[in-house]
Amino acid sequence: MTQIADIIIIGGGIAGISAAARLAPHAKIVVLEGEPHLAYHSTGRSAAIFIRNYGNATLRALNGVSFSQLAGDMIGDNTLSQRGEMLLVREQDHAHLETYMLGADGVDQLTPAEACAMVPALKQDQFISAIYEADAQDIDVDLLVQGCARMARGAGAQIVTSAPVTALRRDAQTWQISTSNEIYEAPIVINAAGAWADRIADMAGVPQLGLQPMRRSAVMMGVPAGMDVRNWPLFGGIAEDWYAKPDGDRLMISPADADPVEPQDAWPDDMVLAEGLFRFEQMVDIPVIKPSHSWAGLRSFVPDHTPVCGFDSEHEGFFWLAGQGGYGVQTSPALSRLTADLVLQRESELSGDVLAGLSPARFR
Ligand SMILES: Cc1cc2nc3c(=O)[nH]c(=O)nc-3n(C[C@H](O)[C@H](O)[C@H](O)COP(=O)(O)OP(=O)(O)OC[C@H]3O[C@@H](n4cnc5c(N)ncnc54)[C@H](O)[C@@H]3O)c2cc1C
Repeated sequence: MTQIADIIIIGGGIAGISAAARLAPHAKIVVLEGEPHLAYHSTGRSAAIFIRNYGNATLRALNGVSFSQLAGDMIGDNTLSQRGEMLLVREQDHAHLETYMLGADGVDQLTPAEACAMVPALKQDQFISAIYEADAQDIDVDLLVQGCARMARGAGAQIVTSAPVTALRRDAQTWQISTSNEIYEAPIVINAAGAWADRIADMAGVPQLGLQPMRRSAVMMGVPAGMDVRNWPLFGGIAEDWYAKPDGDRLMISPADADPVEPQDAWPDDMVLAEGLFRFEQMVDIPVIKPSHSWAGLRSFVPDHTPVCGFDSEHEGFFWLAGQGGYGVQTSPALSRLTADLVLQRESELSGDVLAGLSPARFR
């Protein structure tokens, strides 16, 4: 039997589930997730950090709007806790520093000695300065996802897992969406399929946006006995060629790789991990030991590296919520609110420039 809804959301990562939380009080929502669990792909594999100055001007506007939402306004629980972020600048990193500081807010410059006072394992002679963003925060991603799911279900949304969408067809008024078991029908479909968003567009006969999934890997590594990393900030190279983040009494270390791949259940490449750990060792006096585990996930970008949020201008009822790249958790409160504003035809708090920067119309 065909299941009827007002809005069908494809994808149960943070994008889809946060949009469901915002929309469920206003409409009959069905979320279709292909995997048995929510957040199985990118959302469950992130570094879980909020950095206000990460990304271009459009992203920074989304970050700014999202902060208080993550701090409790969105799901009622505070998902943030103090971490801080320190980026090391070498002689050759001047251009990266200039780009980062353009329009940056709340960033202090540190001498190498000041940086080493915060992270004593740094090799002081390997960098010429550092910048420090005190209000970078850890995000409790699981709490955020479960909080959104609770809100969505509480307002009547149906969240269906193990329901991969296999076909989409538009008739005069509605989208017909097939999974392996059911057919769903709604006038609006929200494409929040992460790395697969262009594949969903293909199925729907909507031109792709040129979304490129990029693999990013990480390892979890112990540190020598007696070294207490718990209160260190996230630290890494300003060229974004490696970073490390405390996770309890261990370090998560990422080579900050960005290798283009097909949409897939991503896994790390040993050589990429080894090269990243080598870059870490150049800057940090901690012996690299066998990691306890490693993983990889996909950060998916459209060509201008800015998310896409809005109705497709040429295909009625087809809404894009994609291309969140490396910022999709921290911007989810702002993007989900914008999704709800656009779908419900409410005014957005975001400026016209930001809305234009996010609109799919920029590709048409
Ligand atoms: C290593 C790493 C570190 C990161 N660190 C951070 C960070 O610190 N802070 C930050 O904000 N962001 C970070 N990110 C980025 C962030 O994880 C992503 O931007 C975000 O998770 C994207 O969310 P999403 O919901 O769009 O995608 P996903 O979480 O991938 O969700 C998309 C969902 O769509 C489903 N789907 C796909 N096709 C279908 C189909 N046909 N039918 C049904 N369902 C389908 C998938 O199964 C998937 O569950 C990081 C990413 C990686 C990989």
